[in-house]
Amino acid sequence: MHAAPATPVAPVAPEAPAKPANFLRTLIERELAEQVYSQRRWGGSPGDAAHHAGGPVDPAPLRLRFPPEPNGHLHIGHAKSICLNFGLARDFGGVCHLRFDDTNPDREEQEYVDAIIEMVRWLGWDWGFAGSQHLYYASNYFNFMYRAAEHLVERGLAYVDEQSAEAMRAHRGDFGRVGVDSPWRGRSAADNLARLREMRDGHHADGAMVLRAKIDMASPNINLRDPALYRIKHAQHHNTGGRWCIYPLYAYAHPIEDALENISHSICTLEFEDQRPWYDWLLARLAEGGLLQTPLPKQHEFGRLNLSYVVTSKRKLRALVEEGHVQGWDDPRMPTLAGLRRRGYTPAAIRKFADDTGASKSNIWVDYAVLEGALRADLEPQVPRAMAVVDPVKLKLSNWQEVFGDGHLEPCSAPAHPQLPALGQRQFSLGPEVWIERDDFAAQPAKGFFRLFPGNKVRLKYGMVVQCTGSQTDANGRLSAVLAVVVPDTKSGTAGADAVKVKGTITWVGVHDAVAARVRLFDRLFSAEKPDQGEADFRDLLNPGSKLEVSAFVEPGLAALPAESRLQFERLGYFIADRHDHQADAPVFNRITSLRDSWGK
Ligand code: ATP
Ligand code: MG
Repeated sequence: MHAAPATPVAPVAPEAPAKPANFLRTLIERELAEQVYSQRRWGGSPGDAAHHAGGPVDPAPLRLRFPPEPNGHLHIGHAKSICLNFGLARDFGGVCHLRFDDTNPDREEQEYVDAIIEMVRWLGWDWGFAGSQHLYYASNYFNFMYRAAEHLVERGLAYVDEQSAEAMRAHRGDFGRVGVDSPWRGRSAADNLARLREMRDGHHADGAMVLRAKIDMASPNINLRDPALYRIKHAQHHNTGGRWCIYPLYAYAHPIEDALENISHSICTLEFEDQRPWYDWLLARLAEGGLLQTPLPKQHEFGRLNLSYVVTSKRKLRALVEEGHVQGWDDPRMPTLAGLRRRGYTPAAIRKFADDTGASKSNIWVDYAVLEGALRADLEPQVPRAMAVVDPVKLKLSNWQEVFGDGHLEPCSAPAHPQLPALGQRQFSLGPEVWIERDDFAAQPAKGFFRLFPGNKVRLKYGMVVQCTGSQTDANGRLSAVLAVVVPDTKSGTAGADAVKVKGTITWVGVHDAVAARVRLFDRLFSAEKPDQGEADFRDLLNPGSKLEVSAFVEPGLAALPAESRLQFERLGYFIADRHDHQADAPVFNRITSLRDSWGK
């Protein structure tokens, strides 16, 4: 279960302040130097060209946004995007907006909005700039989006199509086949406008017709073959209630949201690359019509981050929760930010992971060990140490009374952190019986086993040297106690400590002063590296041993520890007092990660 005795680890150098170059930084540096966006005005809030024209020059040299759809909880892939956008804004003195892309009435819920706000804050980011808060909801732009749709219709750039969904799909064509014009494509602007208003006013059923842009059904880019802009949907919306029965499609809404908010760099993942010509087409038409300020936002794509041994699709994460494979969105094994927080990950470790994985023009796979490495690098120099025994068996020191007299307890102490004297000393005591790890004893030791076996001497860390004399088993032949004698005058930190040489040091806690605790030992949620990439259903690749809860004993100083305290249990790994289940008188610790990467070794 755990590795050899802990050896002190050198403190980790603080994070290098210089950020590695990536294509986005290079691009932004160049655009700032060329003052590409320096003449934009800012009307004090998102709005159209007229609104912004009334304001001063935008105080933000650049604006970015993180635009989640509030239809699920954030995961580690989102953290990548959050840290990239908020980080670029911070580094270049601009602002990153948090915008809820809540244009689809079906799936969005307030619960997700609240959770997303909480997690972006937890990661350490905020959306304040120049005295105002830049938290926005795309659904607040429905009026403008509709006005823009009428504008396109009036200019002959959009039409209402009454083909069935199947006909529309068939007529779109594919890579080898150009599309076929809809029979409704030639309708007059006046007729289209009347139809669009009927759609808006609720005269038609869901799916009866859609509003489409009129571009080019023969375009080699299928996204330009008259994309749909609005569809009819008689549905309540979490923000606008029953006010609308038509809703804009994502591809129409998103560029407009960016433009109204004066976004300069609209950063998205690679799968949107083919949408860029459409993004530019739409905004250019609306700017020509005087509806939007220029220069317009530009879309830039970067590679999606995939993490091994997890899945990061909201749909699959939801399946894990709803089908009961995990105990909720914040189950400590989940790659959601809520799960990572409960597991014990720090915001700093997640930010470092995001920085270290850069931004490139291709989708990347990152090994889970990289995330764990970022966490260890953050925790190692700061969290206090303690001893815990997670698979306890009693060690009985048969000569204790003879050596020390009846009832004697030997006070022991240890630094809370080997490199941080300011954290002080831990106090505990050694007595006639201590808890040790079951696997620190072997009746028949394998070659290279230096811990307890009959005749061998080991040091009880921060305590004394003991020599094993035997063991006891229960009726089932299972080890029930290890027997040993204490070697006098060998206490750590005294002159005699080095008199007896031992090859092994083990961790322990005193039976008389240990605190009983529950400890949850987590392992990877999936046993396959890419659980959703192969033939198998990802559910069949769940790691059955991903959670083990055991009874343990911990040092007396850990009684009454506040929830969410992090610490290192020597030899065992990094742990956190669970934010939900931990109580001062009934401690529950989650193992965040082991001390070193031992996966598959
Ligand atoms: P999912 O596929 O899990 O539903 P999504 O991309 O649909 O994720 P959104 O809420 O629409 O989720 O995304 C918000 C932002 O997060 C988008 O800009 C998206 O590109 C980004 N994002 C989501 N997943 C990743 C990832 N794995 N790597 C980088 N960025 C991501
Ligand atoms: Mg999505």
